[in-house]
Amino acid sequence: MNQTEDLLLGLVGKIRSCRKCQEKGSIPNPQPVFSPVYPSTWMLIGQAPGKVELETGLPFSGRAGRTLFRWLKEAGYEEKEFRASVYMTSVTKCYPGKNPRGEGDRSPSKEELALCLPFLFKEIEIISPKVILLVGKLALKILLKIEKLEEGVGRTFKKEGMIWIPLPHPSGASRWLNFEENRLRLKRALSYIEELTDAGNR
Ligand code: SF4
Repeated sequence: MNQTEDLLLGLVGKIRSCRKCQEKGSIPNPQPVFSPVYPSTWMLIGQAPGKVELETGLPFSGRAGRTLFRWLKEAGYEEKEFRASVYMTSVTKCYPGKNPRGEGDRSPSKEELALCLPFLFKEIEIISPKVILLVGKLALKILLKIEKLEEGVGRTFKKEGMIWIPLPHPSGASRWLNFEENRLRLKRALSYIEELTDAGNR
């Protein structure tokens, strides 16, 4: 086992056994969901797992995942290959529960972000991927300090020697994609993914 594998195994163990949000009373039964594929030259970062992901233990295995994998297929990346080769994680790792207003799942709280983000930063440091796909506004805000999807999707960013490609979150994308200019932004983002995979970056 090399040193990176050793570090990763240690981190994965810490994440899997983490109960910090339970101790703070915000998530009653935390069950981290992520897919620590190693070695990986690509990483995907979403917001937080949903209820289906909690049940299957697989990131993006619900309805949003079907949309995400349809997009990726357009970019030439099949789900099976993607799952086998890409480290998939999220800004926070446990299902936060329902939105108190009853409209879908709630976003991670500030406190949960503060507790969980050190894991994400460590994952990026250890995996040190060539390409990072950021799925949704929260990932975009946390990792690139960009507040609006329109300012990120359809562009690539170079930071810390990695290429960062923002995508909208598939669960909330349908309204955003009602606008032609946003559909073009998504198309451009998918074309960057396709170019990078064609260039042998995976
Ligand atoms: S969301 Fe993150 S910090 Fe909170 S319990 Fe799960 S792994 Fe731990």
